[in-house]
Amino acid sequence: MACDAPLTIALSKGRIFTETLPLLAHAGIRPLDDPETSRKLILDTNQPQVKLVIIRASDVPTYVQYGAADLGVAGKDVLLEHGGEGLYEPLDLRIARCRMMVAGIPEAALTAGGGRLRIATKYVKCAERHFAAKGQQVEIIKLYGSMELAPLVGLADLIVDLVESGNTLKANGLVPLEHIAPISSRLVVNKAAWKMKHAAVMALLGALREAVAQGQAIQHA
Ligand code: ATP
Ligand code: MG
Repeated sequence: MACDAPLTIALSKGRIFTETLPLLAHAGIRPLDDPETSRKLILDTNQPQVKLVIIRASDVPTYVQYGAADLGVAGKDVLLEHGGEGLYEPLDLRIARCRMMVAGIPEAALTAGGGRLRIATKYVKCAERHFAAKGQQVEIIKLYGSMELAPLVGLADLIVDLVESGNTLKANGLVPLEHIAPISSRLVVNKAAWKMKHAAVMALLGALREAVAQGQAIQHA
């Protein structure tokens, strides 16, 4: 992919970076540093016009919304919480796939005995929407991690969290109870960059779309 306009792509460390790397490679973009070992937050790539910024997963939509990055890769969970304002979401990258679920201890009744159910989660908006849609009045307790602990110590009746294999739930004596949404990572694009850097954005989008399609073909071979 040859592009003239400078492009900044926002990524988070860990699984999103690791799983996005082969897709970027298909687009001819290779970072010159490894964010797991480098302390740099701005990574140059083999393409002089393309830079990667390494930020918290939940900050990716914000950087892209304000144009600090032209594009980014963000989990659908993060996008649902953010709201997606100022962003286009043109491509499901089909990486970092899991499910957003309600979970709890196996005997947890889903109707509160007396008071309102307490739900511990990092996904406050998603949890509010889910229980409101069911007409269930709940109290949401915002946490930043280790949600599985909350039902075990009586902080909450249920949690809303991401589940991949279910092993973390199981290890903590919890079970998945309700499915909220399938989750995967999405390419997001700043709306102004989409217009102003159209050719460069389209070239990258096309190459990524092709990489995703090839990955799919391999999975189904
Ligand atoms: P931070 O460490 O900044 O709090 P985080 O814990 O959300 O962020 P990651 O664990 O790297 O960071 O998750 C990044 C994204 O990967 C999530 O937003 C979600 O879309 C996806 N993800 C999280 N957990 C899983 C999982 N168990 N399986 C598959 N994908 C997941
Ligand atoms: Mg995590």
